[in-house]
Amino acid sequence: MTIITSAIPGTVLALAAFSKKALTTPGIILAWFLCLLITVSGGIPAFVILAETFVFTVLADRIAGACSDPYGVRKRAGVRGTASVICNVGIGSFIMLLKLLTGNIRFLAVYAAVMAESLADSAASKIGPLSKSGPIDIGTFKRTRKGLSGGVTLLGSIFELAGASVIALTFFLFSLLQSQTDPPRALIDAAIIASCGFAGAMFDSLLGSLLQVKFRCPQCGAITEKEMHCGKETVRISGIRSINNDCVNLLSSAFTALISAALLIQ
Ligand SMILES: [Zn+2]
Repeated sequence: MTIITSAIPGTVLALAAFSKKALTTPGIILAWFLCLLITVSGGIPAFVILAETFVFTVLADRIAGACSDPYGVRKRAGVRGTASVICNVGIGSFIMLLKLLTGNIRFLAVYAAVMAESLADSAASKIGPLSKSGPIDIGTFKRTRKGLSGGVTLLGSIFELAGASVIALTFFLFSLLQSQTDPPRALIDAAIIASCGFAGAMFDSLLGSLLQVKFRCPQCGAITEKEMHCGKETVRISGIRSINNDCVNLLSSAFTALISAALLIQ
């Protein structure tokens, strides 16, 4: 796509982020630029996949509301800046930069897998806590508190697979429409995209369990991801202090890019 036409969808997304006050001004400018890069490199399919990830993430957030974190254990994201934009769409943008530079259309499938992981993770972390049964920590196999990183439920895993499958299906339909690949190959690609997206989101939960910092409140004893609780400073009980949810998202995007590139790029 030309740069002029590619700028239009990104501008719409940037205006949406601006009106919601979801991003800082440098965050919006960077997000706009990365969206432009993705659309110039991958055309309408790449933009539709990006927009779907964005829209379904917002939708899952709306459906779950406060129920995705019933005990208020998660650190509030607040207004997100450039670091958060890089952690969440940096790897996908880098893959599309590689496509632009090499002209290899297979990078579009790798990009789809990375976005499938992102949507799978968002859907699971928002909808999973609505499950009636309590989550199990994927790293320790012990029961954990709803909302804490690393916890998995059957409901969350179903939505994880559904989120990854939505992106895989979109990729499949565009492959057929644009006749870039024959239908059996496109079907195999879609299965790889959904599987890698699901595996990447599980890897995200594993990192959330083992690496992401968690604290205990000295006042009430609750385990939380916040530095303050009950008006007191909390004590670190596990994980690495500098590893927050953004870092985990970046690492699991990179993991998904590597495993999907190994399977999709010949
Ligand atoms: Zn407390």
